[in-house]
Amino acid sequence: MSKGLLIVLSGPSGVGKGTVCSALRKRLTGLVYSVSATTRSPRAGEQHGVNYFFKSRDEFLTMIENDQLLEYAQYVDNYYGTPRDFVEQTIEAGNDIILEIEVQGALKVKETFPDGVFIFLTPPSIDELRERIVGRGTETASVIDNRLSVAEDEIALMRHYDYSVVNDEVDLACMRIESIIVAEHCRIVK
Ligand code: 5GP
Repeated sequence: MSKGLLIVLSGPSGVGKGTVCSALRKRLTGLVYSVSATTRSPRAGEQHGVNYFFKSRDEFLTMIENDQLLEYAQYVDNYYGTPRDFVEQTIEAGNDIILEIEVQGALKVKETFPDGVFIFLTPPSIDELRERIVGRGTETASVIDNRLSVAEDEIALMRHYDYSVVNDEVDLACMRIESIIVAEHCRIVK
């Protein structure tokens, strides 16, 4: 039996990774989602074990010490990381898994899983990105500025990815990603 694909969907905060990823999961029901651990507080409507595993800083540091994370990154003021076992077991079982993570973490995954499929979601423009983060209304002005400056650094790292997908419209972005997944399954040699 062949292994599943490890798909990394990354890109700057506010580009719409979450929206695109959930639309994609509705279309591709066999696609498994990797739920990350984070020290950030839950936003309204977010559920433990569904959106994230919400952890204290000490709990998160213990996960790092025990090598339970495939990658982790400190992003703005919080830690975010991908639980390792779930990802490895899913791929071994022949199922595709998608990780929706920021850029530093994606580059670390590439070191461990160079055969992964690395997709960079780009905003149509930086102005549009600001509008989206402001429009979300969940962040303070200083957090927004911080996220935008991180975003500009992140866009410079796009060259390390296999594919770049513009998120101009969610449906179009999903269609492009689905095409990438289909093509990756048709590959003869990676
Ligand atoms: P948010 O706080 O908006 O949910 O997420 C902030 C950033 O952290 C987003 O870019 C999101 O994709 C990223 N992120 C979420 N989970 C992980 C993870 O497990 N590892 C890494 N490196 N980044 C993550």
